[in-house]
Amino acid sequence: MQIYADNAATTQMSRTAIAAMLPYMEEIYGNPSSLYTIGQKAREAIEDARERMANCLGCTAREITFTSGGSEADNQAILSAAALGAKRGKKHIISTAFEHHAVLHTLKKLEKNGFEVTLLDVHSNGIVAAEQVAEAIREDTCLVSVMYANNEIGTIQPIAEIGAVCREKGVLFHTDAVQAAGHLPIDVERQYIDLLSLSAHKFHGPKGCGALYSRRGTPLISVIEGGAQERGKRAGTENVPAIMGMTAALEEACRSMEAHTAHLTALRDRLIHGLEKIPYSALNGDGTQRLPGNVNFCFEGIEGESLLLLLDDKGISVSSGSACTSGSLDPSHVLLAIGRPHEVAHGSLRMTLGEDTTEEQVDYMIEAVTEVVDYLRHMSPFWRDLEIGKRPHVFSK
Ligand SMILES: *Cc1c(COP(=O)(O)O)cnc(C)c1O
Repeated sequence: MQIYADNAATTQMSRTAIAAMLPYMEEIYGNPSSLYTIGQKAREAIEDARERMANCLGCTAREITFTSGGSEADNQAILSAAALGAKRGKKHIISTAFEHHAVLHTLKKLEKNGFEVTLLDVHSNGIVAAEQVAEAIREDTCLVSVMYANNEIGTIQPIAEIGAVCREKGVLFHTDAVQAAGHLPIDVERQYIDLLSLSAHKFHGPKGCGALYSRRGTPLISVIEGGAQERGKRAGTENVPAIMGMTAALEEACRSMEAHTAHLTALRDRLIHGLEKIPYSALNGDGTQRLPGNVNFCFEGIEGESLLLLLDDKGISVSSGSACTSGSLDPSHVLLAIGRPHEVAHGSLRMTLGEDTTEEQVDYMIEAVTEVVDYLRHMSPFWRDLEIGKRPHVFSK
């Protein structure tokens, strides 16, 4: 059996998205900045796509900027808010300890340029409270950036409440909604969002394409210099096919959201109940305030990478820690942020289900993970120490 259970890393493109792209590769391949017909047809297509993207988010077309993906949108959102803050003498930014590196590394760069960054603690259930944000806001705070849903443990943040706090205090609010777009409802008005990043390949669109929503009156600075595309906010010839694919994918995902959520939640809970039976294991992140397809566990006495590779041998694609930190020896900053000790954080497994995952596949995954965890524990000297009481267990049996 082949099972793809790493949909938080990327998703398979949908037929609808592929079909929406093809005409813009085969026939309407003109440069949207060109004045002749096939250029102007491409221009009309992306302006129509902008309008449709805006409809999915509850904003206007003018508030959408197309980017090369989620990372670029995060960089541009944060650097723009920081530039605006600096102009007004406000150089304090609030974010959280478990953001994606596209956010955290951008903040690090700003710290080197005289900004002060407060990273809020995350509760052990993987959620940041709006009250924490309220308490951290100062006179000189120019931006709050809190992700909508975490990419590793899938926990969903109280975005509307955080947005309301920011609006009341007159501070810009950015959310990295890369894991949420197409999977959770978004309404930038009702959620008081000023800046929002999304990425097409996380909702069955193409890789290398994303969008940044910026509320009217929130000036963006360009991260890429060059031509005057995207109202001078993002230089470079527009990726017309990808924009068309992304738009079709987002519309499709939003249309089917209710049905997908019901299907995925049932499978997610089945998988969680199955894996909870493994002794000395624990679910990471809140049991219900999480993305419908996200399951993330820690197993004591296990090396996550070994687990991943043995599951791959059984045809199952999953992830351990964050894809971005694979290859480094540090455990996931997300698991450390929710208070998992180092040795346990190393034994984590993320399984993110997709709309076409079946019950049969979930049962096969439960069986395979249970078997592989048992196998690895029997080979581990670390596990032996736990068994003979030389080291204390972290989780209960
Ligand atoms: C994937 C992801 C990103 C990066 O998006 P890219 O399009 O791959 O650059 C940023 N934030 C979160 C939460 C993500 O899951």
